[in-house]
Parts: sequence; C-alpha cells; structure tokens
Amino acid sequence: MNKKKGNLYIVTGPSGAGKGTVLGRVLAEMDNVFLSVSATTRQPREGEKHGVNYYFVTHDEFRQMIEQDRLLEHAEYVGNFYGTPAAPVDEMLNAGKDVVLEIEVQGALIVKGKRPDATLIFIVPPSFDVLASRLRSRGTESEEVVQRRLMKARSECAQMDAYDYIVINDQLDDAVHDLSSIIRAGRCRRGSVALNLFD
Ligand code: 5GP
Repeated sequence: MNKKKGNLYIVTGPSGAGKGTVLGRVLAEMDNVFLSVSATTRQPREGEKHGVNYYFVTHDEFRQMIEQDRLLEHAEYVGNFYGTPAAPVDEMLNAGKDVVLEIEVQGALIVKGKRPDATLIFIVPPSFDVLASRLRSRGTESEEVVQRRLMKARSECAQMDAYDYIVINDQLDDAVHDLSSIIRAGRCRRGSVALNLFD
C-alpha cells in the first residue's frame, strides 16, 4: 500500500498558543511530514537561523518574490511580511510527503482558496490569560509588541470558524496527540491511499 500525493496542512494559532512547540514534537515523532520554511522581512530572534526557521529577506527581496510569483501566499503581520515559497511545497507534496504550513489567518485563507484540499487546523491556548503570560515569559518582545500580538490574537481567534479542526493546547502531550492524529487520519483518506489489492 503506497501513498499517492501528500496532504497539505495549515496550522494557525496566535503567538503564545504554543504551536511551535506542539508542531516541533509532531514533526520529530512522525515520518514523512515536513514544515515549509517561510520567507520574512522580520529580524531574526536570538537563535533563529536563516533557511531553518525562516528565510530572512529584505523588503526588496520579498517584493521580488511576489513579482516573480514565487509565493503561494503572503501577508503582513504586526508590521512584517511573511510568505510561503511555492516550489518546495509542491515538490514535497508530489513526492508523497505531507507538508505543514505554519502561517497566520489571512495566508491560511488564501491557500485554502487556491488549494481546497488543504486541511486547516487552529491551535488555541486554554484562555487569553494563559496566552498573555506565555507571551510575557518568552521575554523576546517588548511590552508594546506583546500588546499588539494579544490584540492580534483576539482578532485571529474570531476567525476560527473557517478552520476544519481546533486543537486546544492546555496539556502539551494531548495537543501533540491531537495534531498527529489529524495528520494520521488524513493518510487514511480514500484519495490519499494508492491500493492495489488485486495485483
Ligand atoms: P513570528 O514572527 O512569531 O515568527 O510569526 C508571526 C506570525 O506569522 C505567526 O502567526 C506565523 O504563523 C505567521 N507566519 C509565519 N510564516 C508565515 C507565512 O509564510 N505566511 C503567513 N501568512 N504567515 C506566516
């Protein structure tokens, strides 16, 4: 039994929801699922590496990527631009691998419009209070940026209805299990399985 084309997953969640941690665990535990590396005009945070966490580009380089139609989607988020390079996503899907885009709501809806088969997953914190304390304890952003991200989180959560699945990140192990179960279930979809029972 072989897999045909891979499945495309879009994971969104307000910053502080812990989606990076949940995703990191799922990617480490599962085979054949890959995270797309986005391009951004944001400055790297400490420890972030070009080509690993993001492709850190200038505004000119980002504009060029848009003009050359190299992005599957792009959006502005709290003053910076973010976009998904299209070619690597299609290469991985065509090779039968599942691909995860970790992107915000506007980009997620653009991709869903272009790729209706994509599965949209929203990761939420158990409450906004938990979100605020997670954001502050990270200590990577100023209070002003934290406030802007909290406001953004509220408007993002208002758009949860457009998503196929909601994963609540209260207990990390449960959230990891939920997300990997969604990806596993996708592999059993009739269209995802190439089965030659009679050969
Ligand atoms: P951060 O600056 O915290 O790394 O990311 C800020 C937001 O941008 C997060 O919600 C993240 O999911 C989103 N993001 C990251 N890459 C992309 C992308 O390629 N496209 C879009 N639309 N959003 C992205």
